[in-house]
Amino acid sequence: MAVKEKACRNCRYVLEEGDTCPNCNEKAFTTFWRGYVMVLNPEQSEIAKKMGITRRGRFALRLSR
Ligand SMILES: [Zn+2]
Repeated sequence: MAVKEKACRNCRYVLEEGDTCPNCNEKAFTTFWRGYVMVLNPEQSEIAKKMGITRRGRFALRLSR
């Protein structure tokens, strides 16, 4: 896992740079996360539906604190 990538605390969107989540505009992130799911077609993805994802991108599976 890359060290600098961070995940949004609200929706778990994985961001490489920037301070605002492009998915939900949250500004709180954590670099302590594990695993991610790549969502390319949110409308067609079962995982995206389960996780409530409507945007394409990477989403962390777990946040630790
Ligand atoms: Zn977010």
